[in-house]
Amino acid sequence: MSLNKPLFLAALATTTALTSVPSFAEGELNLYSSRHYDTDERLYSDFEEMTGITINRIEGKADELIARMQAEGENSPADILLTVDTSRLERAKNAGVLQSIESATLEAAVPAQLQDSDNQWFGFSQRARIIFYDKADVSEPPMSYVDLADPKYKGMVCHRSSSNVYSQTLLAAVIENHGAEAAKTWAQGVVDNFARAPQGGDTDQLRGLVSGECDISISNTYYFARALRRDVSGLSDSIDMIGWVFPAQGAEGAHMNLSGGGVAAHAPNKDNAIKFMEYLTTAQAQEYFSAGNDEYPAVPGVGLSPSVARLGMFQADMVDLSAVAKNVPQAQQIFNEVGWE
Ligand code: FE
Repeated sequence: MSLNKPLFLAALATTTALTSVPSFAEGELNLYSSRHYDTDERLYSDFEEMTGITINRIEGKADELIARMQAEGENSPADILLTVDTSRLERAKNAGVLQSIESATLEAAVPAQLQDSDNQWFGFSQRARIIFYDKADVSEPPMSYVDLADPKYKGMVCHRSSSNVYSQTLLAAVIENHGAEAAKTWAQGVVDNFARAPQGGDTDQLRGLVSGECDISISNTYYFARALRRDVSGLSDSIDMIGWVFPAQGAEGAHMNLSGGGVAAHAPNKDNAIKFMEYLTTAQAQEYFSAGNDEYPAVPGVGLSPSVARLGMFQADMVDLSAVAKNVPQAQQIFNEVGWE
């Protein structure tokens, strides 16, 4: 009998931790989101007004939300997981926290290369991962991802660490487009060209151009567009010194990443979840993505924010991101082998 007490306490502790979320009423929509952009508020309030469905939000870091959904299991109140990056969407799928859904609307609205092959996740907006450079120091910038490994750029290139999902998805795309062997040679070449050990976020790669630490940096487009639109310290004031290249034009095209989401494996309000996902593909919602966070809409035919439009037209890599996502473990292995920190 003496064993019962500690066991009971342990169970109670677990239950308490898992029910520390607000009590969600039936017929609402429980959104687990790692997106943290102010303009997303409009997405939610418009949906609530339109449908009368109340949205409850749990916000947190993507991996924490995925872990939480796993821990909550069948009792999870989560209806939808919204997050960024193909690698992470795939991680959620592999963790078993999403489910396949059927929606003719989503199938038709979201281009095929931006959805999971099992319909467990869908992309709602895109960002291009492109080359930025110091115009004063670089007269012949790299024109492709392959060029980043050219020895003539030795000591000039800045990129994020290999633990970052943007790095992982980019290398996974190089594997898909050029094969694993070429991808490894490429990654080794980029490491040899690093100006400094990988560090910081995308904005820090751009700031590195301003500070002179980097001559060539890779960043997602919205970080640069944001600095055009409003003041970003250490960047906006000097932004005119930075040039950009949409890589691999005439070849595979610029690498695109996703912000997207999927319906939770044990969604208590599955119909509402699908309704919300469908709403995210409407012209109105797509405009919030593009105008509010300088992203490229996933649904063709929606306008761009003025700051993104300034970057110009380009050819996007149309590679199937569901296939790219499957290369992530191999990408991680290559990063380790070539010493990309
Ligand atoms: Fe980002």
